[in-house]
Amino acid sequence: MELFDVYPRFNITPVSAKGCWVTDVKGDRYLDLYGGHAVISIGHSHPQYVRNLKNQLDKIAFYSNSVQNPLQEELAAHLGRASGLEAYQLFLCNSGAEANENALKLASFHTGKSKVIAFKNSFHGRTSAAVAATDNPSIISRLNALHQVIFLPLNDVAALENALNKKDISAVILEPIQGVGGLEMAEASFMEETARLCREHQAVFIADEVQSGFGRTGAFFAFQHSEAAPGIITMAKGMGNGFPTGGVLIHPDIESRAGLLGTTFGGNHLACVATLTVLNVLEQEQLLPHATQMEVVFRTLAEGIPGLKQVRGKGLMLGLEMDFQVAELRKKLLYTHRIFTGNSKNKNLLRILPPLNIEEKDLELFFHALKKELL
Ligand code: PLP
Repeated sequence: MELFDVYPRFNITPVSAKGCWVTDVKGDRYLDLYGGHAVISIGHSHPQYVRNLKNQLDKIAFYSNSVQNPLQEELAAHLGRASGLEAYQLFLCNSGAEANENALKLASFHTGKSKVIAFKNSFHGRTSAAVAATDNPSIISRLNALHQVIFLPLNDVAALENALNKKDISAVILEPIQGVGGLEMAEASFMEETARLCREHQAVFIADEVQSGFGRTGAFFAFQHSEAAPGIITMAKGMGNGFPTGGVLIHPDIESRAGLLGTTFGGNHLACVATLTVLNVLEQEQLLPHATQMEVVFRTLAEGIPGLKQVRGKGLMLGLEMDFQVAELRKKLLYTHRIFTGNSKNKNLLRILPPLNIEEKDLELFFHALKKELL
C-alpha cells in the first residue's frame, strides 16, 4: 500500500531527539528551529515528559469520556491558573482543526447564525468549517464551500464593522499572529475592537491560538498582548509537546449545554498528562519570560544579515523576511548546516519556531550558518 501524499517531505528520517536537537537514521544531528511546526514547546524528550507519560502508560492510557477522569479537572484548574482565564470552560479534543471546528459550531449554536468572518492569509485547519475559513481555495472542496465565509483584510476596523453591521455574522475567527500566512500580526487595538464589535453585534470572537498559544509568543496566549477578551480560544500544537491534543476555552457567556460537543479520544489520560507536564515545565523553567528574552537575542543577532528586510513575529514565533525567496537557503541550512527552519505563504520568509527552552548558543549557531551562506 502506498501512502497518500501530504506535503513535500525532506529526505531526512529522524529517529531520536533531545531538547532542540534531532538525530536522524544515519546518526547526524540537526538543530531544530522548526519544532515540528511549532509543536515542540518544552523540548524533545524532556525528562519529566518522558517519565510522566511512561508512568501513566503503566497505569491507564485511555478510557472514554463516559467515566470520571480527575486528570481533566486537574488540567482545567492548572490551565486556568497559568493563563489567568479561570472563568472559561475547557473542552478537550485532539487537534487544531478540531478545536476550530468545535469553536465555529459553538458560536453558531450560541448566536443562531451561521456566517463567519475570517482574514486574508488565514489558516485554521483542514476540517470542514475550519478549512472554509482558511484563505487557500486550493484545499477547499465544494462541500466545504457550503460554509459562508467572508475574508477581510487584517487590521481593517472599518471593513470589519461594515461586515458586522449586516447582523448575520456568527463568528469572527482570527489568528493573533498568523502562522502559515507568514507572521502577519493582528494589532492589539484591532483585537480589542474585534472583541468590542463582536459583543455589540452578537457575534463570537474566536482567537485561534493553535500555533501562538502555550507561551510561544512570551504571553500564555498571544491575544494577551492586548486587552481583548475573546468569546472562544482554541489551542493545540505546543499544548501536548508532540502528543496529539487540542482544546477550546469557552467564555461563560457562551451557551454550553451538556451534549453540544463530544469526542472519543479528547482529554484521554495520556493527553492530559502530556499537557499537565507542559504546564509544569513552562512554569518551572520560566519559559514565557525566556521566550521574550530569546526574541531580543534573536533580533540582536539578526542585525546586519545581508538581504534582511525585517524580523517578524513575537517571542519564539519569529521569521526573517528577506529580499529574496528563501526556498534554496532553507535547503542549504538543512542539508549543509543541519538546521531545520520553517516556511510560509510568504516565499521570502524563513520561519523560526524552536522549542521554548532554546539557548542563546543555539541561536548563535544558526546565525553563524546564515552568515556563511549570505556573506
Ligand atoms: N490553526 C492554526 C493557526 C494553525 O497553524 C494550524 C496548523 O498549522 C491549525 C489551526 C490546524 O491544526 P491541526 O494541524 O492540528 O489540525
